[in-house]
Amino acid sequence: LAAASDSVAAEQQPKRIPKGVVLGKDGKPCRSCTSFASWAAQAKQTTKKDAPAGSSAVSTTTSGPPPDCPPDVETLGRSTWTLLHSIAATYPEQPSRTQQSDLLSFVGLFSKLYPCWVCAEDFQGYMARQRPQVSSRDEFAQWLCRAHNDVNRKLGKPEFDCSKVDERWRTGWKD
Ligand code: FAD
Repeated sequence: LAAASDSVAAEQQPKRIPKGVVLGKDGKPCRSCTSFASWAAQAKQTTKKDAPAGSSAVSTTTSGPPPDCPPDVETLGRSTWTLLHSIAATYPEQPSRTQQSDLLSFVGLFSKLYPCWVCAEDFQGYMARQRPQVSSRDEFAQWLCRAHNDVNRKLGKPEFDCSKVDERWRTGWKD
């Protein structure tokens, strides 16, 4: 899987759905699987089709959804990584059996419930190949960093240096 937006081949989509819009399992456009630019392009197309000539259309130049609108795939992703890395940063150095079991349950359920279904299925695939490491804070932070890098690679983003994960998410940067 490259970008979520690439996961549905353009030729499989009805002609009126612009490239980049990912359909949900109900066959309708999936907002949390789609970038705002693609979503706005689709909304613009719909508005143009439905609205009287001369009426205004949705702008496609905005870089992300307005803060009080439902998140696109990127806003949702950034917020989610913040939560996941913050959970890793506050996980005990020596977790009890219960804490390890809770974390395993959490990531397992998370991977099933994540609102971008293509992202979720891909993350489940990663977890099947690379079992979550929950035996200590450092183990989990490093596992999560590698999992995030797996997504970064697929999206063509630079990989993060996992030796810096503590500074990025727990202690803050050294001066
Ligand atoms: P993000 O990738 O959101 O990262 C936020 C911040 O985390 C960065 O600014 C950086 O400081 C830090 N960071 C980056 N890499 C690491 C790392 N390896 N370890 C620790 N910290 C790091 N989008 C898709 O289009 N397709 C997908 O299949 C997809 N799958 C996803 C799966 C999951 C489980 C999640 C949570 C998100 C997924 N996303 C997917 C969203 C995608 O990963 C990004 O969140 C989104 O593209 C926004 O990227 P960004 O450049 O703002 O930074």
